[in-house]
Parts: sequence; C-alpha cells; structure tokens
Amino acid sequence: MANNAKNNKYDESKYSMDTHLIYGKYITDKWDYSHHVTAPISSSTTFRLDSVERGAEGFMRFAHTQEFGEKAPIFIYDRLGEPNKDMLEENLAYVEKGEMAVSFASGMGAISAALGILTKSGDEIITHNTLYGCTLSLLTNWYPRYNIKWTPIDLTNSQNLFNYVTEKTKVVYFETPANPNLQIIDIQEIRKVVDEINKTRNEENKIQIVIDNTFATPFCQRPLELGADFVVHSLTKGIGGFGTDMGGIVIGKKKYQDILQLYRKDFGGVLNPKSAWSILTYGLPTLPIRLKQQINSAIKIAEYLSSHPKVEFVNYPGLPDFKFYETARKQMRDFNGNFAPGSLIYFVIKGNSPAESKENGRKFMDYAAEHAYTMTLAVSLGHTRTLLEHPASMTHSVVPPEELADRGIDAGGIRLAIGLENPDDIIYDLEQCLKII
Ligand SMILES: *Cc1c(COP(=O)(O)O)cnc(C)c1O
Repeated sequence: MANNAKNNKYDESKYSMDTHLIYGKYITDKWDYSHHVTAPISSSTTFRLDSVERGAEGFMRFAHTQEFGEKAPIFIYDRLGEPNKDMLEENLAYVEKGEMAVSFASGMGAISAALGILTKSGDEIITHNTLYGCTLSLLTNWYPRYNIKWTPIDLTNSQNLFNYVTEKTKVVYFETPANPNLQIIDIQEIRKVVDEINKTRNEENKIQIVIDNTFATPFCQRPLELGADFVVHSLTKGIGGFGTDMGGIVIGKKKYQDILQLYRKDFGGVLNPKSAWSILTYGLPTLPIRLKQQINSAIKIAEYLSSHPKVEFVNYPGLPDFKFYETARKQMRDFNGNFAPGSLIYFVIKGNSPAESKENGRKFMDYAAEHAYTMTLAVSLGHTRTLLEHPASMTHSVVPPEELADRGIDAGGIRLAIGLENPDDIIYDLEQCLKII
C-alpha cells in the first residue's frame, strides 16, 4: 500500500484517491520496506530495544504525539503500536480526511472507545432513534451502570436537538445511512445546530458529533468534511470488503490521538496485525472498484424491487422517491463528486397486517436460504457475496417487539447488502423468492 521506492519524486496531488488507495499517500516512517511491493506482515508482539535509553524514549514518546510529532516510531509492544496497524491508520485517516486514526479490534471496540474518551459518569449522549443493534445494546445494557444517560431522538430533523440537549450532553451520535432502515441524517444541518449550542460552552464542554460511517464507507461519504468531529467504522464490513477480518477505527482531530491510544492500551481492544495487513493489502486498494460495482447493482435491484407488486416499499438512498433522497444526493458523493448512494437496500414485503408482512418476510428469507444461489442468509455487509437478513429477529433482536416502531424497524423489514455478483443473477433469485409468497 505504501510507496516501494522512497526516493521517487512525484507530486501526490496530481493523482486521484482511487489511485492513492493502491499506493498509499505517504512515504511511511512506520516501516522500512522500500524493496517490498506489498508491505510485509508484522508478527512480533514485542520489539528489541537497543539500550535502556531507547526503551525509556519509546515509553516517553508513546501517546505523546502532541509533544513528539511524527518522528519515526520506537516500537515496544504490539498493544501500544505496531507497523501494520500504524500504516493502516495513516491511510484511513487520509481517505477520510482526518488528522489521525486509531484502530481497534472491531467496530464495537472503536465505538466504545470513541464514547469512552468523550464521556464520564453523569454525562449524557443523544443518538438517532435507529442504530446498529450492538450500539443500542452498549447504550441500554452497559452505560446505565456507569451513570451515563442515553436519549434516542429523531435526528432526521436537526431542530429536535434543541429540545433534548441538556447541560450534561457531551455527544451527538448517529449513523447515516442508519442501520437498517437507511434513514439519512443531514450532517451539515446537525453541525449548524451543535455549533449554535456550543457557542455558550467552554472547550471541554463542547458537544462532539460522532458518526458511524460504516454503511457508506469513505468511498460514498466523508463526514469530517461535512462537519463531524469523529468518524467511526467497522472495518469488518465494506472497507475490509471480503468478510475475512474484523476491525474498527476512530478518525478525528490530532488532539485526541494520544487519549485514544492510552484507552486502547489500557482497555486492550487492539487490532490483530494480520487483520490490519489484510485490510491494507486487499480491502483499501479495491474499495473504489468494489463500491462502484455494488452501487450500480444496488440501483438496478432497488428499481426492480420498488416496481414489484409484492413489495410494500423500498428504502434506498438512490431512489428519487425515497424520503431522504435530496439529503442523500447532497452528502453521499464519491471521490470524484458523483452521487454514491451505497450498497444497502431495505425493503418490506406486503401483507394485510404487520404480522402477515412479517410472516411473508420470514417465508421469503427461508426460501432464499435454501434456493437462492446469489443471496446468503447472514448478518454483516460489504461482502463479495450478497447477504440478506431480517433485522427484527436477527441484528436488532435486542429491541423488544413493542419498541421496534420507535427504533424505526418494520417487523417484516428485510436488509439486503449487495455483493459483487452480476445484478441480473441477484434479480433472478429475488424473482424466484418473491414468487412463493
Ligand atoms: C457491524 C457494524 C458495527 C460493529 O462492527 P463490528 O466490527 O462487528 O464490531 C457498527 N456499526 C455498524 C453500522 C455496523 O454495521
């Protein structure tokens, strides 16, 4: 991913992001591998220190990037820092237009770290109503133990914030598109409202905007450019891209790098270097080509589904009659400025009642699990294979049935995560499955 000849003289600004994702932006200090075309996998939990002085300097510099800047690192122990992870972090910060990135063992590791450094007992977090299932579980099952209050509201209207923010609110957190219903939140509008509220607050009390950009990936959306303070990702999904490795990342301002590294050191959720290497070697360089294919397929499939008589409705950011189409068009843009509505589709099958709709959804999915070649009944997304799941009984089973509507989830809703197959084959399989209901 990084340059294979340290002395090359070229102007980086002349090349596109698609190309930077293959070659890397920087001549990296994280590893001297000027003769490798592909970066080596580092597989050393500990590092030799030439002298006590060097060891002492390494410990002094760790998590003190503010004082010591970008000097060549002194590696000590994998949990503190290590070449593969550090290279991945450099490149992810670059693609998301952030000043720094810190990696974690999983997306949840990254989300809990971002919220962990921004809150303490007595603080409050406001989120959108609809959230990834385990983020919901973190906020409902664990944060009450730490006396951190969670307030879910409808952030598709940014003005709602004025009614719910209190003195204790420290974080506004959301996904856009949201999981699983793909509602879109206007990042620039949230920024405006938070700026208004922050006017009267001192530096430590300013509300921070944290956005989970997993669904869009940086190919479709760069929230920091639109006003977010932090971006978090599950690297397990579209960025990793092949469904082989778990990972997470927090990207944001330089001043938070040290505390995130300390948090990771002490809570221990470090990314495996071999996973970092896979994501660096396979995931990032192929991100644009995978996403282009998935978006083209998703548009075609969403149009097919929305004209099908057995489908109640389809939420896809690229459909002109989708409620949030205009906002999606504004903020979901690829590196060249083209509208990039993503690879996920949410749809509901018709029924005469919610119970019947749910039952039809179940039939559809069970039939697909057995008969469809190009759709696999499985959680996760951003894979080479198209994955199909039922949020109400799978990813969002943490939500009690009577609260599903409040969380924006339809009992019969189906989430389709488009892979790299020929879209006509996926449509063929959808056709067969829809026939049986
Ligand atoms: C999968 C996912 C996560 C959690 O990521 P893990 O890598 O599974 O821990 C968080 N947010 C969203 C939107 C996800 O899809």
